[in-house]
Amino acid sequence: MRLRVLGCSGTYPTPRSPSSGYVIDDPTASVWIDCGTGTFAALQRVLDYTGIDALVLSHVHSDHCLDIFPLYYALRFNPQARRLPVYCPAGTEEHLAQFLVGDTACKLSFIFDFRYVKPGDVAEVGDVRLDFAVTDHPIPTHAVRAESPTGIVTYSADTGPGMDLDVFARDSDVLLCEASYQNNDCGAPLHLTAEQAGEYAKRASVRDLVLTHFWPTHDHSISKTEAAAAAGDVPVELARPGGVFDLESRTWVEAGTPA
Ligand SMILES: [Zn+2]
Repeated sequence: MRLRVLGCSGTYPTPRSPSSGYVIDDPTASVWIDCGTGTFAALQRVLDYTGIDALVLSHVHSDHCLDIFPLYYALRFNPQARRLPVYCPAGTEEHLAQFLVGDTACKLSFIFDFRYVKPGDVAEVGDVRLDFAVTDHPIPTHAVRAESPTGIVTYSADTGPGMDLDVFARDSDVLLCEASYQNNDCGAPLHLTAEQAGEYAKRASVRDLVLTHFWPTHDHSISKTEAAAAAGDVPVELARPGGVFDLESRTWVEAGTPA
C-alpha cells in the first residue's frame, strides 16, 4: 500500500501546497481521500483521474471537499468516465448541491454515487476495507481507516482531542494525523497540536506517524519536533505535496516538495 499526498495545507491552500487530499493505492484499488482546494490539479499531474475507484469525503468544510466541482465537470465531459462512489457523512450531497442551485442541467448524482456511511459501516473498494469513526469537530466528520493485505493507513481527518483516535488507529502502519496547532500557537480545541498527534501515535502503537493539515503560516519543523517529543519510538514524518510514502519500505518513494 502507498500513501500519496496531494496537499496538506490546513484551512486554505498556500503557494507550496493544496489543501487536504490523499490517494491510497494498493494493487487492487485507488481511493482518493478528501479533495480540498487545488488537489484535483495536483492529482492530474501524476494520475489518470478516471482510474480512481472511490472518493472519500471526511466532511464538507471547503478545505476538504471543494475540488469535487472541477472533478464533476471533468468526469461529466469525459466519455470514458464511470460513475464514482463517494463515501461521506449523511447530508453531504444536499450540502454540496446548493452550489449548483439554478443550474438545472447539472446534478451531482449524474456523476457521483453518494453513499452515506456511519461508524460501524464497512465499505470495500477492491481489497481495501474502509472503516469510519466520528471525530471531535464542529460538523459531522469521519476519520477513515483503510486496510488491505498490503497495509493499514488511518487518517484522522480534522479532529480535536476528544475522540478515541488511538483506539481507531490501533496498530496501523501509518497514522496520517492532523497537526494544525503548535504548543505556542493553539486555537479552539477542534484541531490537534502536533504534540497531541504524537501522543495518539504512541498510544495507538502505529509504525509511522505522518503529520498533515499544517497551519499555513507555521514552521513545520517545529511541528515535527513537538510531535517527536511525544511519540516515543514512533518515527515522525511531515506530509509533503507530491510525496508518496510506501508502507512496506517505510520510505518516501517519491519525494515531493516541502509544504
Ligand atoms: Zn480542515
